[in-house]
Amino acid sequence: MPRFFIQARPADGRLLICGEDAHHIVRVLRMKAGDEVTLCDCAGTDYDCVIEEAQTDRVCCRVRSESASAGEPDIEATLYMALPKADKLELIIQKSVELGVSRIVPFVSARCVSRPEEKGLRKKQERWQRIAAEAAKQCGRGRIPEVAGAAPFREAVAQAARAGTALFFYECEREASLRSVISGGALSTVSLMVGPEGGFSLEEVGQAQEGGLKSVSLGRRILRCETAPLAALAAVMYESGNL
Ligand code: SAH
Repeated sequence: MPRFFIQARPADGRLLICGEDAHHIVRVLRMKAGDEVTLCDCAGTDYDCVIEEAQTDRVCCRVRSESASAGEPDIEATLYMALPKADKLELIIQKSVELGVSRIVPFVSARCVSRPEEKGLRKKQERWQRIAAEAAKQCGRGRIPEVAGAAPFREAVAQAARAGTALFFYECEREASLRSVISGGALSTVSLMVGPEGGFSLEEVGQAQEGGLKSVSLGRRILRCETAPLAALAAVMYESGNL
């Protein structure tokens, strides 16, 4: 059943779709009165609806039932991702949303090669947010994960440390395995911090640990900066029963 995000709540048991989505429903999907559609309020609730009136600029739907969005994980995972080169972050955003990430916070660390200037960052962030919305719609999420603006490393550490489980993925970590850190415990809010192609500096490792993050290994192989966050997120989602 086609799925659309809406920003409204039902009024008199009805929901209205306007703009591009209305045009898409009528002109592309060629849907009409009597057809069924799922509308999601971006806050974790799905409304199964039947179309009552379909015009290219507005589609009126009657709500038949509502339920918690099945596509939402029951943990809140935030990915803190060092700005990688080129457009790798776009792939990381798309795949992290499919895997259930709740929020993505890009940050600038010492070895980030990509340091776009302020102006460029705003346009990039709008594009990153669009990618997150498209991925959320495609995979059936109940919320659209936020992609925050690029933060300085210390600010990212401070935010990441607020989570119940704050993981700092360090490529030279040899003691703590991800499994030993996340298995057995009830995960609720999880931060995952991943470095750029050049890895983390020793100073950053110290700052992260002093800030309360737990240095964790993803095994003896060195994963690329676009592989590591996805592997880590998949493991956290698996361990918490969300995959
Ligand atoms: N340039 C570094 C690798 C950086 S990989 C080197 O060649 O040693 C980019 C990021 O992915 C790292 O900063 C880390 O956050 C994560 N990562 C990659 N492999 C990892 C591993 N085996 N254990 C923990 N984190 C890893």
